[in-house]
Amino acid sequence: MSVNGLPPYDTNNIFARILRGEIPCKRVLETPHALAFDDINPLAPTHVLVIPKGAYVSAADFHATATDAEIADFYRAVGQVGAPLETGGYRLLANMGHHAGQEVPHFHVHVVGGRALGPMLKTPA
Ligand code: AMP
Repeated sequence: MSVNGLPPYDTNNIFARILRGEIPCKRVLETPHALAFDDINPLAPTHVLVIPKGAYVSAADFHATATDAEIADFYRAVGQVGAPLETGGYRLLANMGHHAGQEVPHFHVHVVGGRALGPMLKTPA
């Protein structure tokens, strides 16, 4: 299911294929409802993607339609991945749709840290 005008879930997106085991990933953490793995193109020393195992396109889709158990498990996984970075600090980021440049249409949170990250947003030229 999708909401807010986003296209329906594409079952062949890269993260769906990772979840099916068709594409390898460098696994960081797996929980009943979430998978965390290293970003293939890291922007910082730590760059982990946390994805729900369910088929959700966006935050609106996930938060409106996932079960409470899925949502709790997902955010606990995000917290667990971020925990080792708490001392130095880190950033959680989620891109949704065209304006945010979302590349993979499966809801995910980036956990980025391990160096000073600079300003939150860079304005395009
Ligand atoms: P976004 O732009 O928020 O949709 O981010 C998608 C992220 O997925 C990017 O940071 C990519 O580097 C990352 N990515 C794409 N393909 C893979 C892959 N096969 N394994 C791990 N990360 C990937």
